[in-house]
This record gives sequence, structure tokens and C-alpha cells, in this order.
Amino acid sequence: MPNRPIENIVIVGGGTAGWMTAAALSHMLSGQKYAIHLVESEEIGTVGVGEATVPHIRFFNQKLGFDEADFMAKTKATFKLGIEFCNWARAGDSYIHPFGAFGESIGGVAFHQHWARMQRASGGHPIEDYSLPVMAARACRFAYPAEDPDSLLSTYSYAFQFDAGLYAKYLRAYAEERGVKRHEGKIIDVALESESGFVQSVQMDNGTSLSADLFVDCSGFRGLLIEGALQSGYENWQHWLPCDRAVAVPCATAGPLTPYTRATAQDAGWIWRIPLQHRVGNGHVYCSNYISDDVAAATLVDQLESAPLAKLNQLRFVTGKRRKQWSKNVVAIGLSAGFLEPLESTSIHLIQLAIGRLLEFFPDQSWDPALASEYNRLMDLEYERVRDFLILHYHATERDDTPFWNYVRTMPIPDSLTHKINMFRERGVVVNYRDGMFLDASWIAVYLGQRVIPQNNDPLGEAIPEADLQAKFDRLRSDCHIAAQGLATHADFIRQIGAHA
Ligand code: FAD
Repeated sequence: MPNRPIENIVIVGGGTAGWMTAAALSHMLSGQKYAIHLVESEEIGTVGVGEATVPHIRFFNQKLGFDEADFMAKTKATFKLGIEFCNWARAGDSYIHPFGAFGESIGGVAFHQHWARMQRASGGHPIEDYSLPVMAARACRFAYPAEDPDSLLSTYSYAFQFDAGLYAKYLRAYAEERGVKRHEGKIIDVALESESGFVQSVQMDNGTSLSADLFVDCSGFRGLLIEGALQSGYENWQHWLPCDRAVAVPCATAGPLTPYTRATAQDAGWIWRIPLQHRVGNGHVYCSNYISDDVAAATLVDQLESAPLAKLNQLRFVTGKRRKQWSKNVVAIGLSAGFLEPLESTSIHLIQLAIGRLLEFFPDQSWDPALASEYNRLMDLEYERVRDFLILHYHATERDDTPFWNYVRTMPIPDSLTHKINMFRERGVVVNYRDGMFLDASWIAVYLGQRVIPQNNDPLGEAIPEADLQAKFDRLRSDCHIAAQGLATHADFIRQIGAHA
């Protein structure tokens, strides 16, 4: 006899995580006997940040059947070709981590290997001159990638920058249309089954009690169920990612609409700039051991391109992850599962990944522990990979001008990252994993941008004469330049496709 299916699902929290989960489950489980409830509290509110994404979000939106222009108009979204990092390895440096490759392999050897060889031999142009998305980003231009693999326009991908509050609203309308029932109010108590320790019900301040088979904890940093009720434990990564606070504020856009996010390093952290159609989101992420809240806020306000449009939003966090993101009948998704700081805009992707994995390992009433255990193993792996990628930005620096940079430059790092950096520095080898969030091109962009330069190159590339390589390089650089200049401006492109708000 088949095991009894799950019938009732309660999602606790209505931030980006809660509504993404509600939208996805209502779509993917449609036609089956599931009742989905979502509880959120206007009084508590949401974290109110989280506007920059990575390209995977497009597949989430496509799966749900969103019309891209409509979604962009309703969330006041812009296109994102990558992230510009300013002042990270040295004050005055700037590089873009693009969503796309630098050149293509020549004679079966990766482009960056040839580039490093040419640099050693005769210097030359920065690697970003061989990337169309970087050239387009710097020129504030955009076009959809082409499908023809021979076209230079097929060498990149893109993501969005959007108003997170409007995205949650968009998802809410979608989920409610598909039967998700929303409950407004505060959860004040959580009841556990005495024998199993499973969550049985949540009690709201208006007297309503909601019971369910499966609970998805999207309650944000507080982790109401996963930690508050089930005490799953938290793996603290602050010794590697020491920023623990942020202050955020929007302002009006001054200047052209840039198709990229900017992260500018500061004395004890960094400042983000995320351009949306109607405003710019700004925030200062910092480490409270090295700078006070007042100075951090003043530093942010001083660097705004126009007057603030709202009150400053102060946030505190502890980088790390829940020891078990799925415990008993509770799956934590979003900030309740962990937070690795916003440097590479990874959180919304981790929400998407968690939803996908939950659907992949969807339980029934037998609660086979192997499902939770595999889910936790895979989520742990991804958090660790993202963690290493983020640490790289801080650790691979030459900056010694403040105590914060001295700390991150000299701190012990995970062995897994030491190995990756050594392999790249020694021979340009990218140690990466299949199905990881960041592809080789991302690692290459950040290694080189952070001045981790290969000391030797792949000997298989030596057979190609330098003059031939130089000719190919010159052609590619010129093609990228011409192609970028031929694109519409980012603002015009948004108007042309009817995605403007
Ligand atoms: P929240 O937004 O905090 O939502 C929690 C929900 O739970 C709310 O609806 C709240 O009302 C509800 N709730 C809590 N307790 C109760 C209760 N007792 N009763 C009823 N309801 C309750 N991610 C990115 O991908 N890109 C970025 O650029 C980015 N920038 C960030 C910058 C900062 C400084 C921070 C801190 C995060 C950033 N993130 C970013 C992460 C991103 O904001 C979150 O991953 C995303 O918003 C999801 O949050 P959440 O839904 O898990 O939590």
C-alpha cells in the first residue's frame, strides 16, 4: 500500500522566501490534494532588502510561466549583466564579474590560460576587454543573448535587479490565484507532538491555530520553527565572513541606467548600489568590530548619488547556516536556513535551490529520514561552495590600510578554498564542482579581479605561436567593442520590450 501523502502545508512567513515557496508549491503541486496556508505578520514585516539576483531566477520565473516584460514592469526591474567590484584587491581597482565567459578556448586550452601567458610575455589588455557582457555593462547597453552559438551575443546570460517588496506582491497574487490561503497575524506559540517532537500546529495571536503535516519555515533570521521550536543549531561562519550589520536606504537615480550591481569596498566592509527603474537601492555592509553604526550610516549617506528617499533600514545578521535545514517535519527556506551576506546576490538563488530540492525529495507521511538527510547534505554543499566564493573576495586582497582588511587578508580560510586558490595561482586550474551555482567563468573573473594571477600556464597551449594568439585576441577585443556599441541603451531596451513601469 502506498504511504499516505502530505495534505496540509503551512508556510510560516511572507517575505521573498515565503511567497516564492508558496508560488512554486501551488504551481508544482496543482491538481493534487494539497492545502497550502501562509502566515505573515505586517507588524513584524520583512527584511526589506534583497534586490539583486543571479541568472537562475529567470528559470524560476519561466517555470511559473511569468511573462518577463510584465514581471519587470510590475517589479520595476532592470537587467543585470554582472557585478562591478571597486577597490577590492587594491584601492583604485575595478573589475566586473560578468554573467558570461571571457573568450573561448583556443586549441582546446581555456582562454584565460592563453591570456595569462600573453600577460607574462608582453602585458596587454585586461581580460574584461574580451567579454561582451563587461563591455556592454560599461557602456550601459543591453540585448537579449542570442541562441546561435556562433554569435558573440550567445556568450552571456543575465539576471534582474528588482524591488523585492513588489516581487513578493507579484508572487502573492500568483499563489493566491492558485489557492494558497494567506493568514495575517503573529504566531505566538508552536505546539510539538509529544512522542515524535514534530511540529503539530502554530498558534496565532488572533486565536487561530493552524495544524499541518509539513511546515516550511520562512520566518527570516528568527527561524521561528527550525530554531525556536526544534533547536536545529547554527554553524557560525563569522570568523570567515565577519560582516555582521548593514544599513540600507534608497535614493533617486542620477545618471544613466546601469545594467549591473556595484559593490565598492570600504574601510570595514562594502557598499552596494542596485539600480532599479524608479530608484537606486544602496546599502553598507560592515563589521561592527571595526566601525560604529553611526559612522557606517554616515559613510553610506555621504556616498549616495542623491538625497535619501526613506529612513535608514538597520539590519543585523550572523553569517552561517542552520546545522539542519530540514529537521523532522520542518524545512527552513530563506534567511531562516542561513545567511552568507549579500556580496554576490546569492540568497534568492539559495531560496530557489531549496524549493527545487524540497520538490525533488518531497516527503510523504512515512517521513523517510533518508530524504531529509540527502536534502541537508546537498544544501550544506551548496552553502559551503558559496561561502568559499565569498571569502575569496575578502581574502585575496593586497589591502593593508585598515584593521578590517588586515584581518580578512591574514585570517585562516577553509582548506577547500586554500586548495582552490593554490591550483589557480600555480597553473590557472579552476577547481569547481558540477551543478554548483558559480561556473568556472565566475571563479576566473574573481580570481583575476582580486589579482590572483596564474604563475604558470597550461603547457598544451604553448604550441600556439604568440603572434597567432595576439591576432585572435585583437579580433575578439574589437568584435566585443563593436558588438557592445551596436546595442540599445539599457533604458531604451527596457522601453522597447514594454517592460517599463
Ligand atoms: P524575511 O523577509 O525576514 O521574511 C520573514 C517573514 O516571516 C515576514 O513575512 C514576517 O512577517 C514573517 N514572520 C516572522 N516571524 C513571524 C511570526 N512570529 N508570526 C508571523 N509571521 C512571522 N538576497 C539576494 O538574493 N540579493 C540581494 O541583493 C540581497 N541583499 C541583501 C542585503 C542584506 C543586508 C540582507 C540582510 C539580505 C539580503 N539578501 C539578498 C537576502 C534577502 O533579503 C533574503 O534572502 C530574502 O529577502 C528572503 O528573506 P526571508 O523571506 O527569508 O525573510
